[in-house]
Amino acid sequence: MSAIPDKTRNAILDAVEAGFDDQVAFLADLTRIPSRRGKEGAALDFMADALATRGWEVDDWTVPMSELASEPGFCDSAGYITEIRAVNGTLEGAGSGGKSLILQGHLDVVPEGPEEMWTTPPYDPVVRDGWMYGRGAGDMKAGDTAALFAVDAIRRAGFAPEGRLHYQSVIEEESTGMGALATLARGYRADCVFIPEPTGHTLVRAQVGVVWFKLRVLGKPTHVAYAGTGANAIMGTFQLLTALEALCEDFNARAADHPAFGGTEHPVNFNAGKIKGGDWASSVPSWCEVDCRMGLLPGWSVEDVKAEIAETVAKAAEAHPFLRSNPPEIVWNGFQADGFVLENAEAPETALAAAHKSVFGTEGPEDRQFTALTDTRFYGLYHGIPSLCYGPIAESIHGFDERVDLASVKQSTGVIALFIAEWCGLTEA
Ligand SMILES: [Zn+2]
Repeated sequence: MSAIPDKTRNAILDAVEAGFDDQVAFLADLTRIPSRRGKEGAALDFMADALATRGWEVDDWTVPMSELASEPGFCDSAGYITEIRAVNGTLEGAGSGGKSLILQGHLDVVPEGPEEMWTTPPYDPVVRDGWMYGRGAGDMKAGDTAALFAVDAIRRAGFAPEGRLHYQSVIEEESTGMGALATLARGYRADCVFIPEPTGHTLVRAQVGVVWFKLRVLGKPTHVAYAGTGANAIMGTFQLLTALEALCEDFNARAADHPAFGGTEHPVNFNAGKIKGGDWASSVPSWCEVDCRMGLLPGWSVEDVKAEIAETVAKAAEAHPFLRSNPPEIVWNGFQADGFVLENAEAPETALAAAHKSVFGTEGPEDRQFTALTDTRFYGLYHGIPSLCYGPIAESIHGFDERVDLASVKQSTGVIALFIAEWCGLTEA
């Protein structure tokens, strides 16, 4: 049941409505920044400025990856990332009774792919039929913006959260999660974490873990005229990938009786995501590299999964005439992330249900079993902090014509604002 008087609730939702044109403009400005991996600086600057302008106390810091290595959940990037920058805004609680909250969102976006496949350029956001199009608009700059403007709405309506609030912008969510880890290493804690990823107004109940690795495969170069005397690294790589696909099917068979994912169709997915190799159309290629991603389920050990991957690759190489004596190398270069199930979060879930009902008029939110991962695992698994992941409707994230439904962004902003009210408590400012 809601702890918020109707009058307060209506004032906050009215303030969300009144600020929404500005919010959409802010979202477009943020989406215009191509904050791909390693290039998130301008987006972090943008958010740090936005927080400072609003009177948040801003902590903007950079930490070497090496200093994070002892933290639980650390993922090595094999040298790709050497330091992590993060931004935290703090709004001290206006009272003594409220609970504290971290609003967290990532600013990194995945590559846009060939621009000609987009209807309009990926970093030139446009609104068509109520959807904003752009790389990152959905995943997850709409959520980043919604959380910031939710707090704006509360303050504009004349209230202040009783509990302490943190607003955090992180990077590396799409590759290692080390941005979230940096905030924990910095010492930030709260009674709850809220991450407004584009979940379509569902609550992420369970999420898979993910392992990233690069396969380095060698071959023996010859002129194609004498291909039989050489060994084709690209074709050898295909043999390894076929074996890894079979391992993935085996994982899915084991998933059938999993408590969280038993009812989910094919929850574990394998992806060969990026491939490079060879030097010349008429030379048998002597090298091939492929970046891979394998899922795993909550409760499975990352180390065991890595061992099974290594064993599968070794066995497939054993069956290959050249790779048998020139075994491929595996480099663990990103996510080595555990799966996670949201548990022991009755209090924040009750607050979210009340906020959701105030906006949608129906019971909810529904649970979702998520076959990708979010940063929630760091708080829930390693620090016992309940971490909710809930946000707007987006389509084609990581694909072409990524888009977010602006009506749902407004609804999510209302839900987040009312969740803050329920969870942190409010005083009249
Ligand atoms: Zn995301």
